[in-house]
Amino acid sequence: MSLPTTERLLLGPGPSPVSPRVLAALGAPPRSHLDPDLMAIMDDVRARLTRVFRASGESFTFAVSGTGTSGMEAAVANLAAPGKRAVAVVNGYFGARLAEMLGRYGCDVERVEGEWGRAIDPALVSRALGPRTDIVAMVHAETSTGVRNPVERVAALARERDALMVVDAVTALGAMPVDVSAWGLDVCFSCTQKGLGAPSGMAPVTFAPRALARIVPCRSFYLDLTLLQDYWLRRKYHHTISAPLVYALDVALEEVEDEGLTARWQRHEQQHLALVDGLGSIGLSLLPPAPERLWSLNAVRVPDGVDELAVRKHLLTHHEIEIGAGLGPLAGKIWRIGLMGSGSTAENVRRVVAALGDALGRG
Ligand code: PLP
Repeated sequence: MSLPTTERLLLGPGPSPVSPRVLAALGAPPRSHLDPDLMAIMDDVRARLTRVFRASGESFTFAVSGTGTSGMEAAVANLAAPGKRAVAVVNGYFGARLAEMLGRYGCDVERVEGEWGRAIDPALVSRALGPRTDIVAMVHAETSTGVRNPVERVAALARERDALMVVDAVTALGAMPVDVSAWGLDVCFSCTQKGLGAPSGMAPVTFAPRALARIVPCRSFYLDLTLLQDYWLRRKYHHTISAPLVYALDVALEEVEDEGLTARWQRHEQQHLALVDGLGSIGLSLLPPAPERLWSLNAVRVPDGVDELAVRKHLLTHHEIEIGAGLGPLAGKIWRIGLMGSGSTAENVRRVVAALGDALGRG
């Protein structure tokens, strides 16, 4: 087997392109999982993540060793238990994953179903809350549909009922506004391979004080928050963290902070709008209505009669560009084009629109 030698433009739903500086960080001299050098970098990662999540200083903010799903499972495994009631918003593939996980950890789960391709109506969540709800869980940026859910409004409803608000910001963090403190989120998790622009393999997570006060005895050893706090805060061995992934995350976060969060969000918005324009010029449109669209992930309707797989293959073989397919009920109906992290540029918008135009004979 030989390693890849060609560049491929990653414009799918993630992973996103990794900048040369972040890539170079992977090759820095290794350190062991308790080395003081690595511990100092981990402290830096915690501080930077706290700022990027806009979490409070009293929160426990760190990165789970694992992909975004491990962040989701860390949130669930430390809060969910038999006897707890959870309300989960399901208007896409990842909302369904979150609901399923809450059930696996023993919660009595009420699913608030919404149309795939539309934001959830907070009134539906309000109705589902009932007299007692322990956890409200939802996906902020639903990667399967390109939809932004109204997290802020649902978090306010959860707070009114004294339920904990758990939010999946996997396709939002670093690309679109996420404000854990201002929105009153109790647990929020993400990934490294999208808006933050690092390779996959770590999952940023923040637990606010209200959530820390309500954690349950964790059934998972690997994701046990008290053991992870022992490791991250008190340097007690729990698992052998990957130093190269920590280095890459630290440098990626440095790049986020050098650019400035607000400027980064604006860049993502601008390039999303440029893509919408470019797609319009070749007769393509997006699935969600304009006010509900993500800036990081664009769900593009496959025109009638077009073989969506053939188009993706054409982009890959003739243009070295990867875009994503639809999931679940949207399979065959949409393409998913991600513009995230260092991938969100005017040049990449131009390239993907030109390649799609070529594939469809609409150039
Ligand atoms: N949640 C959302 C919204 C996602 O988009 C993804 C992955 O794309 C995940 C969770 C799972 O993340 P991972 O594939 O990194 O485990």
